[in-house]
Amino acid sequence: MPINNRIAAFQDDMTAWRRDIHAHPELGFEEKRTSDIVATKLAEFGIAVHRGLGGTGVVGTLTGLGTDSGRTIGLRADMDALPMPEANDFDHASRHAGRMHACGHDGHTAMLLGAARYLAETRNFDGTVHFIFQPAEEGLGGAKRMIDDGLFQQFDCEQVYGLHNWPELPAGRIAVHPGPVMAAANQFEIHVTGHGAHAAMPHRGIDPVLVSAHIVTAAQSLVSRGTNPAESAVVSITVVEAGTAANVIPDSARMRGTMRTFSEENHSRIQEQFGRLVTSIAEGLGATAELRFRPGYPATVNSEPEARIAAAAAAKVVGEENVVWAPDPTMAAEDFGYMLKERPGAYIWLGHGAHLGSSCRLHNPHYDFNDAILTTGASYWASLVETILPRSA
Ligand SMILES: [Zn+2]
Ligand SMILES: [Zn+2]
Repeated sequence: MPINNRIAAFQDDMTAWRRDIHAHPELGFEEKRTSDIVATKLAEFGIAVHRGLGGTGVVGTLTGLGTDSGRTIGLRADMDALPMPEANDFDHASRHAGRMHACGHDGHTAMLLGAARYLAETRNFDGTVHFIFQPAEEGLGGAKRMIDDGLFQQFDCEQVYGLHNWPELPAGRIAVHPGPVMAAANQFEIHVTGHGAHAAMPHRGIDPVLVSAHIVTAAQSLVSRGTNPAESAVVSITVVEAGTAANVIPDSARMRGTMRTFSEENHSRIQEQFGRLVTSIAEGLGATAELRFRPGYPATVNSEPEARIAAAAAAKVVGEENVVWAPDPTMAAEDFGYMLKERPGAYIWLGHGAHLGSSCRLHNPHYDFNDAILTTGASYWASLVETILPRSA
């Protein structure tokens, strides 16, 4: 390529779609208006539309002009906004108080629509593409809901691909990881039960605050001593609650936090060690304690062959020198990890650049999607399809 010429001609349309979606943000599983727009546009382009997976999910299916390969791939975009107020005051700022497209899913939706339009016009590929527009990426696991509703049974995908705009990466660059991209994230809660007493007579009680302090300190060993130094993990205790008065030892204490890892072995090992630590520290000090995990998203892990394909497709658009291979992964989480557990594939970072200044970061109230990269993203999608499903000469 670089930027596909035909896709470059969609710049104004994609910008208009993106800004319209930005102005009307919808939260997870409530993407009614957005999914109506997606379904209507796909149908206009001549693409078969299926609705209802995961509630508001939309799948568009398009077969290329070549018919021999029988091959299939899935391309995924997310559609939901965040429950936060927008601080921008431009024309397309959110019209709904307390809801905002601060993660750029408006842009992801618009660029996959742009790619779908181009691919429906040209159909210069051999096989079938499923355009997967998923609800509820932000914490609610819309990808899992679509999978549970039969996504991959109804729409066979040999491979599945996703992307996210990345403000830390300059516009015009694309980063590809050959393995882990984002971490698995769990939340946990610890209840410590002691025995309340007068603070002047601590020997009459069992102090849950002291027990909690030991647990917080000991939890630091889970990563620094228990985890292979060549791997990464995070255990953060972020909430500690106990007590009501300076002269009262409380009955109980409560803590909350999050744990992040890239591998399932690390995940289950830390969970198990943490559980032992919590109960034995409490027991040693005469208290009882319980650790409860609320499972979150699995790690987002690319398969290396598909990551190499994604990097090759990206290089055709932005040039080899602008493809960043194997950068550090991040400890943030992403529900595309569920899809990558089902099918091999790759999730890439599309350079976004903090084009509105340093506060234009994901989940920041000043964020806005950079419309200049809509054509880069759509061209990448097109390049990926034409690379994976080439028509025989
Ligand atoms: Zn987000
Ligand atoms: Zn996001």
